[in-house]
Amino acid sequence: MKFEYDYLVVGAGIFGSVFAYEAKKRGKKVLVIDKRDHIGGNMYTKNMDGIHVHYYGAHIFHTSNKEIWDYINQFAEFNNYINSPIANYKGKLYNLPFNMNTFYQLWGTKTPKEAMDKIEEDRKNHFVENPKNLEEQAINLVGLEIYEKLIKGYTAKQWGKDPKDLPAFIIKRLPLRFTYNNNYFNDRYQGIPIGGYTQIFEKMLEGIEVRLNTDFFENREKFEHIAEKILYTGAIDEFFNFEFGHLEYRSLAFDHQVLDVENFQGNAVINYTDLETPYTRIIEHKHFDDAKSKHTVITYEYPKKYEIGSEKYYPVNDDKNNEIYKRYKEKAAKESKYLFGGRLAEYKYYDMHAVIISALAMVKNEFRDKE
Ligand code: FAD
Ligand code: UDP
Repeated sequence: MKFEYDYLVVGAGIFGSVFAYEAKKRGKKVLVIDKRDHIGGNMYTKNMDGIHVHYYGAHIFHTSNKEIWDYINQFAEFNNYINSPIANYKGKLYNLPFNMNTFYQLWGTKTPKEAMDKIEEDRKNHFVENPKNLEEQAINLVGLEIYEKLIKGYTAKQWGKDPKDLPAFIIKRLPLRFTYNNNYFNDRYQGIPIGGYTQIFEKMLEGIEVRLNTDFFENREKFEHIAEKILYTGAIDEFFNFEFGHLEYRSLAFDHQVLDVENFQGNAVINYTDLETPYTRIIEHKHFDDAKSKHTVITYEYPKKYEIGSEKYYPVNDDKNNEIYKRYKEKAAKESKYLFGGRLAEYKYYDMHAVIISALAMVKNEFRDKE
């Protein structure tokens, strides 16, 4: 049977776009579809009043992998932005991640020894052997006071669950350091693409046919016959018609506002770590790249319960969901026409650089014999 395309790529996010770019480079004919009205997936940035708005939440590129850093730099020049969010807990401000500045703001401690003694005293009163959940893990790491002021409320809002019912790994993402260093990440390379993320996708998809507002499931049969192979980067449970049950996700709502002020909050990211404030963070986009504008654009990020039909932002990687995913994964491995990748198809809390690593590994595997 002769197919119109070598590859159909479902999803114009970073996984699908890297794959499409690499396939085209190898002479393959590729069609990319996305159900949204734009390319870029959750990395999409929209130009609003001259400011590149991170439309689906703040995206800071960071990696320690030089190969990946060089790879993404082919498509855009990055600035030297360092993410240094601030936490607002009941009107008081604290630096993040947890570092000497935070400890000074909490307790007035000035030396690492003073801060370590303070945390140690708190930790030892509440220490749990073999922490089994996010709450136990966090208290073991930073003690009860930091947990209650900077973690508990934020986490409960973000995930819509008691931190006792969440996996410990989520909190391991955050550094704890005894230096005056507000860099949220420990990675060697970090930045924001000058001109926004969308241009990266425009370059990756140059010369490739892209159909937007096109949902794979609305025409599944047609799409199955259009290409020899299909890379699917949408939700895995949906692909298999929820045969083993619905996977759980956490959704978000973004409220973008253009304000007639030059500088609203003085920082790109401010987290609201109490339980009562309904949003988790306010993003002021111009501070990502020092945009010169008399206006500013801010985004309130509200955590939201996932309901069928709403956007799936975060997989909930607890034991129950991971078990369900395992069954989908086994089934997916038997589909010889299909490849599966990305945060939705792999049901994984994935950073951008890790998605690129994974997409390039798939490229290597897929084109091994054919280059
Ligand atoms: P996506 O970007 O979700 O792309 C999948 C695409 O598939 C979507 O465009 C979707 O519309 C399309 N699609 C799905 N189903 C179908 C269908 N049936 N038919 C057609 N199209 C379909 N990572 C970092 O490294 N740093 C950060 O600071 C960071 N911040 C984040 C903040 C938030 C709020 C969120 C939610 C994520 C953040 N991430 C961050 C993670 C980052 O967004 C992901 O790693 C990356 O975007 C995943 O790319 P992807 O291609 O796997 O998925
Ligand atoms: N977190 C927190 N307080 C904060 C920021 C983060 O408790 O001020 C916790 C929360 O559980 C969150 C996790 O750390 O889900 C990971 O945070 P990160 O900022 O890495 O999450 P993302 O940007 O992916 O939402």
